[in-house]
Amino acid sequence: CGIVGYVGSNLAYPVIIDGLKKLEYRGYDSAGVALHMGNSIEVYKKEGKVAALEESVYGKNVQATIGIGHTRWATHGEPSDRNAHPHYSNSKNIAMIHNGIIENYAQLKSELLQKGYTFKSDTDSEVLVNFIEDIKINNECSLEEAVRIALKRVVGAYVILLLDKDLPDTIIAARKGSPLVIGVGEKAHYLGSDASPMLAYTKEVVYINDYELAIVRPDELILKNLGNERITPFVQKLDMELAAIE
Ligand code: GLU
Repeated sequence: CGIVGYVGSNLAYPVIIDGLKKLEYRGYDSAGVALHMGNSIEVYKKEGKVAALEESVYGKNVQATIGIGHTRWATHGEPSDRNAHPHYSNSKNIAMIHNGIIENYAQLKSELLQKGYTFKSDTDSEVLVNFIEDIKINNECSLEEAVRIALKRVVGAYVILLLDKDLPDTIIAARKGSPLVIGVGEKAHYLGSDASPMLAYTKEVVYINDYELAIVRPDELILKNLGNERITPFVQKLDMELAAIE
C-alpha cells in the first residue's frame, strides 16, 4: 500500500528501505524492491514486514543507484512471496510496482494467455506489466510510449513505477486515483506515495496529477499527459509544519 523510488548518484537500496519503513503506517502484508544493476534488473520480495525483506536481501549485491520499492495490501491473490511486488514482465526486461486495482485485468489476462504469456502470480498487476511489454514489443516503441498506450485501455486505480533493462537511469511513473509525489534533490529524484520517504533529503516536491506520466532521471523530471504533451512540473516547497503532518 505504498511505493518508493530513487534515482540519483547514491545507493538506492537504503533510501528505498528507509522510505518503505516511513510508509509502514499505511498497512501492508508484503514488501519488495527492484534494483537496476546496469545489465539486469534484480527483484527481491518477501511476505511480511520490511524487516523480513531486508533479512532476505542481506549479503546480496545492492550496488545500484536506481530502484523502486513496494509495500503490498493484497487485493488480487493471497499475501505471499510470489504475489508480492515488484513483478517482472515475461522477458524480465521490465519490472513494475503497482498500488491500486486493475478492474479489467481478467479481459487483458485472457488476451495475453492466448498470445502465450505466462503468469507467476495471481495479481492484476502482473497482467498490466505484461500488457505493457506486449505493446512495447508489437509497436517497437519506447517503454514510455507503451505505458501511454496501455493506460488508455486500463480501467481502475493505479500508481505504477517501472524499470526497463534498456533504461539504466530512468524510472517511468504514472498515476490515476492513487497518490504520487516526486521529490527534487541534488542530481537525484525521490518518488513516494506521500512525502514522508523523502523528507530527510529534500523539501522540494511535485505532486503528480491523475493521467500524468513522469520520466524521472537523476537530473531530469519530465511530466507528460497521456496525449504525449509536456506539462511544466509545479515544484512546491514543504515547510516544517507541512512536513510534520506528512
Ligand atoms: N492489486 C495489487 C495486488 O493485489 C496491488 C495492491 C496494492 O495496492 O498494494 O497485488
